[in-house]
Amino acid sequence: MKNIEEKIDSINNLFKDLEGEVPEMDMIVRKTLKIGEELGELNEAVLAEMGLQRQEKLDSYKREDLEKELADVVISALTLARYLNIDLEDWLLKRLDFVERRIKTNPSEE
Ligand SMILES: [Mg+2]
Repeated sequence: MKNIEEKIDSINNLFKDLEGEVPEMDMIVRKTLKIGEELGELNEAVLAEMGLQRQEKLDSYKREDLEKELADVVISALTLARYLNIDLEDWLLKRLDFVERRIKTNPSEE
């Protein structure tokens, strides 16, 4: 995860060089909206993967589109976490532990 965070920081610095300093609140709003945008693209790719898009979209769809869009969702979440100073790896592990405990405690709820 460290390599990915370093790459995200490097890209964010490139954006800063291009756009200048953007207020932190604006960046947090932008990065939050970006997750929604990427999630929409992932939804489209999943629909195409399942053959549930119109033919025109199915004709140009490639499996790689699905892989890219899933990665984009994760990257946008990681980027937001960097802006919010959230240790996402730590929280992912905590949440996975929580889900695991819940399933073990009450398997019928999952
Ligand atoms: Mg995308």
